[in-house]
Amino acid sequence: MGEVEQIKKAKSISQLEKLKAQAGPREANLFYSLCENGQNTIDKTQFKQALFDAGLSSLDYRLKSLFEKLEKHGDQINFEEFMSFTRTGGLLAEKALRGELAVPDFRDFSRNLDKIYDEVLPNRSGDLARYIPPLAEVDPEQFGIAVVTTDGQIYQRGDTNVDFSIQSMCKPFNYSFAIENLGLEKVNRHVGVEPSGRQFDDLTLMVKGMGGSSLSPNNKVPFNPMVNAGAIMTTGLINPRDTTNDRLQYIREQFGRIIGWNKEETSGVNLPRFNKTMARQENFKGYNNIATGFLLMATGNIPYSESLLPDDIHEDSQYEYDFYVEPAVTNALKVYFSICSLEMTGKDVAMAAATLANGGVCPITQDRVMSQKTVRNVLPVVQTAGMYNSSGQFFQEIGLPSKSGVGGGILLIVPQLMGICIFSPRLDLVGNSVRGIEVARKITKKYLVHAFDGTMTDTDRIDPKLPIARWRANSCGEAIWAASNGDVRTLERLVSQQRDLEAGDYDIRTPLHLASAEGQLEVVKFLLGQGVKPIPDRWGGYPISDARNNNHQEIIDEFNKLNIEYTEPVHIVEEPEGITDEMVTFDNELMVIELLFAAAENDVNGLRQLVAKGVPVHAGDYDSRTALHLAAAEGSLQAVKYLVSHGHPLNVRDRWGATPLDEAKREKREEVIDFLSQ
Ligand code: GLU
Repeated sequence: MGEVEQIKKAKSISQLEKLKAQAGPREANLFYSLCENGQNTIDKTQFKQALFDAGLSSLDYRLKSLFEKLEKHGDQINFEEFMSFTRTGGLLAEKALRGELAVPDFRDFSRNLDKIYDEVLPNRSGDLARYIPPLAEVDPEQFGIAVVTTDGQIYQRGDTNVDFSIQSMCKPFNYSFAIENLGLEKVNRHVGVEPSGRQFDDLTLMVKGMGGSSLSPNNKVPFNPMVNAGAIMTTGLINPRDTTNDRLQYIREQFGRIIGWNKEETSGVNLPRFNKTMARQENFKGYNNIATGFLLMATGNIPYSESLLPDDIHEDSQYEYDFYVEPAVTNALKVYFSICSLEMTGKDVAMAAATLANGGVCPITQDRVMSQKTVRNVLPVVQTAGMYNSSGQFFQEIGLPSKSGVGGGILLIVPQLMGICIFSPRLDLVGNSVRGIEVARKITKKYLVHAFDGTMTDTDRIDPKLPIARWRANSCGEAIWAASNGDVRTLERLVSQQRDLEAGDYDIRTPLHLASAEGQLEVVKFLLGQGVKPIPDRWGGYPISDARNNNHQEIIDEFNKLNIEYTEPVHIVEEPEGITDEMVTFDNELMVIELLFAAAENDVNGLRQLVAKGVPVHAGDYDSRTALHLAAAEGSLQAVKYLVSHGHPLNVRDRWGATPLDEAKREKREEVIDFLSQ
């Protein structure tokens, strides 16, 4: 018995029906999506691989017991066992398999980030921060990209497990800890929220509030918490009555919670490391920061205990007296230097950014470290002032709240989606990591993540919140279905949204083709009136051929008015009298287009996720094309095998009578021909 026959015998749509009767459709679809090669069990390795492909890891705190159970289990998993496993993994495993995590197509996303990494790696411009030895001595070649989504999917490439100095990246967090402890109103009395337009270490303060007087020193506050003056101020506000030791320990633990450390130490994440040598060097060379601290003291804004002047211990001396410095200022500086000298890995920093993206809850531990409101108050300031003197330009171009540090790290927050950290120590003239900026640029060029991307339609940039096949389906599916159904209203709306109505699907079939095939004269007129050009489809067929095949004379006349030379399509159909299998219609039309895109691109993950969501593998589109037609035409062998093993009938015929095998033959896809002819 050939492979196809064997598969078909052992497995068919009826198997899915049996499963559905046994449990609910949800579990049944999920299990069925993972069944391969005609078995009634799923392969353990494949189950694990599906979770890894979704960006989850066996080290994930949330999946610990699932992976422990899997470790002890045999190679094959039956339906009951599978249900108990997914229950152990909570909703997480299920969501991963159905493609419902924050970034559903994590494999494609990771591949694109890998590409960006490789492109940026050769960039060796810029220089290390050299103001203190521990920063001047780091390995300049280091480069890492880490991403953590709000669902805790993790991408890591390069040096993402190496500790580095967080430096100014601590500033958004210091600000948020201060707000958590004191409330925004109190913190606002001590620090502004205005972009400074000055160097990050500038000594100028701003006059507080509208119409404030510059004559009263108490009216002056740092511009914002992202410049040094502001960061020293916010640090000064955190537990000022405690010893510096206790303050640092407290802050370190808050940072720990943000990156997934828990008090019980079961999450596998350590507290950020404290580099004392770094802190001492920061102090030793920190004249400017020290001056800033004293300035802040002079404004009366650093909290201090109004202690009495200590007794004069040099009472007997005529000139000698003890030089007094208010400890509140030295302590604020000491804590500030220490926090800048905390060290984290790129993965830790990405997790910290993801906690902000996730509204203050660490994605892995689910620990709420700060309120949503605090996050909402912190991010705008990070957005407008986080990138030193290029904050405005960065906002315009990248459009994401970001903070960099002279240790070479940049963190970016994509609200409700992900945190990103890029680490590479060579800096540009304003103090931002050169590679970091380039990566950020490339990410926004590839993905719709800019804060104001919601206001534009862009079919070239990917929406990471969608599976890639869905994103492709969105770019054309709605218009084509609307054209096919004579829905001019929808097309008008798409025009007003600046959508490309010339865009074709996996067969380069366009709205004009379908309107012509279905005799939708109004649609044809509307599209031509909009300047949409007829283009040839996969077979070289123009819309006029569709009109001719279906005898729509008025539409033929419309096309004849245009001065275009139309070629004839080449469709090859063998044994047209052979048996014909039924395809099904599925009422979520875009999901059908998504399925066919996934099949065309050999995206088995995408196919699996759609099957898990209950899409029938043999659903047909407006041309009666099915996933198997597309997989066969493109030579996508894995997809062909997946579809057949999931009961896709072989003798389905498209609008022109072609079966998937005909398509494979026309496109000379030898492997597919061999497989389907067995
Ligand atoms: N510790 C550094 C300073 O305060 C931080 C510099 C930075 O990363 O911007 O000068």
